[in-house]
Amino acid sequence: MNDKKYVRACSITRALDVIGDHAALLILECAFLGVRKFDAFQRRTGLLRPLLSNRLKQLVESGLLTKVAYCERPLRYEYRLTEKGRGLYPAALMMVRWERRWAPLPRRTELRLVHALCGCEADPVPVCTACGGEIDAREVEWREGPGVGLVLPHYDRRRRQTRMPEGDAALLLDTVLRVVGDRWSSLILRSGFMGLTRYDEIREETQIATNILADRLRWLCAHGFLVKRTYQESPSRHEYRLTEKARDLYPVLTMLLQWGDRWYASPEGPPILLTHRRCGAPLEPAVVCSVCKEPLHIDQVRFEMLNEAGSLPGMAQAAAF
Ligand SMILES: [Zn+2]
Ligand SMILES: [Zn+2]
Repeated sequence: MNDKKYVRACSITRALDVIGDHAALLILECAFLGVRKFDAFQRRTGLLRPLLSNRLKQLVESGLLTKVAYCERPLRYEYRLTEKGRGLYPAALMMVRWERRWAPLPRRTELRLVHALCGCEADPVPVCTACGGEIDAREVEWREGPGVGLVLPHYDRRRRQTRMPEGDAALLLDTVLRVVGDRWSSLILRSGFMGLTRYDEIREETQIATNILADRLRWLCAHGFLVKRTYQESPSRHEYRLTEKARDLYPVLTMLLQWGDRWYASPEGPPILLTHRRCGAPLEPAVVCSVCKEPLHIDQVRFEMLNEAGSLPGMAQAAAF
C-alpha cells in the first residue's frame, strides 16, 4: 500500500468522517432547530427522500440521532438528538456565528439568537475556559499529541454538489456548510491553521490529488477564504494565506476537534494538542453569551428568524430542545 495516501490523524478529520457531508450537516442543523419528523426534515432540507433516508440512517448508526416510535397505530417514528449529537451544539453555534458575519447580505441578518438566561439578543462567543479570552486562531499553538498517527481518510470521489437543496434550512447555514461539508476544503483550511501556506506544503499535508487540490484552491480563493501570492518567480511558486473570513472558521474547527476528542480519541490520548498562547493553558474551548458571558446551553438558546421584510413573524422556529 502506498503510504503517500495517508494524512495526519486529527479529531477534526474523525469528526468530519461522521458528519462532514453537506446533507448530514443540513439534517443536524434542522435537528438543532427542533425538527424531529421525516417529512419536516424533508421540507426544511429539500433533500431527495432516498438521500435523506440514507443520511438519517447513517446518523442513527453513528449514534448522533436515535429513532423513536412516537405513535403505535399507525407506526410512526421520529429522530431525536442523542447526548453525542447534542455535543455538536457548540460547533453548530460557531457555524451560526460565522454565517451571521460572512454570509452574503441580506441573509446575514436573518437569524437572531436569544439567550433565555439573560433575556438578551446575543452573539455566541468562543472563549478559552482557562482565561476567558476570545479565541483567535493566531493565538493558538498546535502540537502533535500522544494519539497522533496517520490515517487513510475515507474520502469518496464525489465532486462538489453543484445543485444545492432548496429547503429553508439551505438558506440558513448555506456558505459555512459548503466549506465544512466539503472534506477537501476543510482539510486545506486545517493546513492553513497549522501554518502551512506554500502549495507544496499543503499538498504534502493533505495528500489531495493535484487536480482536486487545484480545483479547491481556486474555489477557496474565488470565495475569499484564501489569498494567493507568488513568493518566487521562475520557477513560479505560490502560497495561499488565510483571510479573516477563513480565520473566523477556526472556532468551528476547534469545537469539532473537542467533540472528536471526546467521542473518537484513541486510547493513547488526543492526536493534536492546542495551547492558548495568551494564557499558556491547554485550550479548552467553550461558547459563551456575548452579553452575560455565561456558557450557552442548548436548552437556554432560542433562535428567531426574521422574515424577508425584516420583521419578526412571531416565533418562526422555536428550538424545542
Ligand atoms: Zn487562555
Ligand atoms: Zn446571556
